[in-house]
Amino acid sequence: MARLATLSPRIGSLGTRTAMPSARTWEDRRVSERSQAFYQTPERRALRDRLLRQRGRRCEDCGRAGTRIYCDHIVELQDGGASLDEANIRLRCGSYHTRRTADSRARRLCLR
Ligand SMILES: [Zn+2]
Repeated sequence: MARLATLSPRIGSLGTRTAMPSARTWEDRRVSERSQAFYQTPERRALRDRLLRQRGRRCEDCGRAGTRIYCDHIVELQDGGASLDEANIRLRCGSYHTRRTADSRARRLCLR
Protein backbone atom coordinates (compact mmCIF):
# COMPACT_ATOMS: atom_id res chain seq x y z
CA MET A 1 0.00 0.00 0.00
CA ALA A 2 2.89 2.37 0.72
CA ARG A 3 3.99 2.03 -2.89
CA LEU A 4 0.54 2.92 -4.22
CA ALA A 5 0.65 6.19 -2.28
CA THR A 6 3.52 7.39 -4.51
CA LEU A 7 1.32 7.29 -7.63
CA SER A 8 -0.02 10.68 -8.62
CA PRO A 9 -3.83 10.85 -8.48
CA ARG A 10 -4.32 11.46 -12.22
CA ILE A 11 -7.91 10.21 -12.42
CA GLY A 12 -8.94 12.69 -9.75
CA SER A 13 -7.56 15.58 -11.78
CA LEU A 14 -9.50 14.75 -14.97
CA GLY A 15 -12.52 16.92 -15.65
CA THR A 16 -15.79 15.06 -16.24
CA ARG A 17 -15.77 16.14 -19.90
CA THR A 18 -12.31 14.67 -20.48
CA ALA A 19 -13.16 11.44 -18.67
CA MET A 20 -16.23 10.72 -20.80
CA PRO A 21 -15.88 8.21 -23.66
CA SER A 22 -15.80 9.91 -27.05
CA ALA A 23 -19.26 9.88 -28.57
CA ARG A 24 -19.54 8.48 -32.08
CA THR A 25 -21.13 10.92 -34.45
CA TRP A 26 -24.02 10.06 -36.77
CA GLU A 27 -21.66 10.49 -39.70
CA ASP A 28 -19.34 7.83 -38.19
CA ARG A 29 -22.23 5.45 -37.82
CA ARG A 30 -23.58 6.04 -41.32
CA VAL A 31 -20.18 5.48 -42.94
CA SER A 32 -19.58 2.43 -40.79
CA GLU A 33 -22.90 0.85 -41.84
CA ARG A 34 -22.10 1.54 -45.47
CA SER A 35 -18.72 -0.16 -45.17
CA GLN A 36 -20.33 -3.16 -43.44
CA ALA A 37 -22.77 -3.55 -46.36
CA PHE A 38 -19.84 -3.48 -48.75
CA TYR A 39 -18.35 -6.67 -47.29
CA GLN A 40 -21.37 -8.65 -48.49
CA THR A 41 -21.09 -7.80 -52.21
CA PRO A 42 -20.10 -10.36 -54.87
CA GLU A 43 -17.44 -7.90 -56.14
CA ARG A 44 -15.79 -7.89 -52.75
CA ARG A 45 -15.84 -11.68 -52.49
CA ALA A 46 -14.44 -12.06 -56.02
CA LEU A 47 -11.61 -9.62 -55.26
CA ARG A 48 -10.82 -11.46 -52.01
CA ASP A 49 -10.72 -14.83 -53.78
CA ARG A 50 -8.48 -13.45 -56.51
CA LEU A 51 -6.05 -11.79 -54.08
CA LEU A 52 -5.80 -14.95 -51.96
CA ARG A 53 -5.03 -16.92 -55.12
CA GLN A 54 -2.47 -14.42 -56.44
CA ARG A 55 -0.70 -13.52 -53.21
CA GLY A 56 -1.21 -16.72 -51.27
CA ARG A 57 -3.30 -17.32 -48.16
CA ARG A 58 -0.90 -15.78 -45.67
CA CYS A 59 -0.55 -12.60 -43.63
CA GLU A 60 1.47 -9.99 -45.52
CA ASP A 61 2.57 -8.42 -42.24
CA CYS A 62 3.80 -11.39 -40.20
CA GLY A 63 3.75 -14.21 -42.77
CA ARG A 64 1.38 -16.35 -40.73
CA ALA A 65 -0.53 -18.99 -42.71
CA GLY A 66 -3.11 -21.62 -41.80
CA THR A 67 -5.33 -19.05 -40.14
CA ARG A 68 -8.20 -16.87 -41.29
CA ILE A 69 -6.91 -14.13 -43.59
CA TYR A 70 -8.65 -10.76 -43.87
CA CYS A 71 -8.59 -8.31 -46.76
CA ASP A 72 -7.62 -5.20 -44.86
CA HIS A 73 -7.84 -1.74 -46.40
CA ILE A 74 -4.54 0.13 -46.06
CA VAL A 75 -6.45 3.43 -46.13
CA GLU A 76 -9.78 2.54 -44.56
CA LEU A 77 -13.06 3.30 -46.29
CA GLN A 78 -13.98 5.65 -43.45
CA ASP A 79 -10.82 7.62 -44.23
CA GLY A 80 -11.64 7.81 -47.93
CA GLY A 81 -9.72 4.71 -49.08
CA ALA A 82 -10.68 2.99 -52.33
CA SER A 83 -12.79 -0.08 -51.62
CA LEU A 84 -12.08 -2.32 -54.60
CA ASP A 85 -8.57 -1.15 -55.46
CA GLU A 86 -6.24 -4.06 -54.82
CA ALA A 87 -3.37 -1.61 -54.23
CA ASN A 88 -5.32 -0.47 -51.16
CA ILE A 89 -5.70 -4.01 -49.82
CA ARG A 90 -3.30 -5.93 -47.63
CA LEU A 91 -3.92 -9.51 -46.56
CA ARG A 92 -3.65 -9.81 -42.80
CA CYS A 93 -4.16 -12.39 -40.07
CA GLY A 94 -6.67 -11.65 -37.33
CA SER A 95 -4.24 -10.14 -34.84
CA TYR A 96 -2.60 -7.77 -37.34
CA HIS A 97 -6.00 -6.86 -38.77
CA THR A 98 -7.26 -5.95 -35.27
CA ARG A 99 -4.09 -4.02 -34.49
CA ARG A 100 -4.28 -1.95 -37.67
CA THR A 101 -8.00 -1.24 -37.26
CA ALA A 102 -7.36 0.07 -33.74
CA ASP A 103 -4.44 2.19 -34.99
CA SER A 104 -6.55 3.75 -37.74
CA ARG A 105 -9.37 4.49 -35.34
CA ALA A 106 -7.01 6.09 -32.82
CA ARG A 107 -5.43 8.20 -35.56
CA ARG A 108 -8.86 9.26 -36.82
CA LEU A 109 -10.00 10.34 -33.35
CA CYS A 110 -6.79 12.28 -32.71
CA LEU A 111 -7.04 14.18 -35.99
CA ARG A 112 -10.49 15.51 -35.13
ZN1 LIG B 1 -0.16 -11.56 -39.29
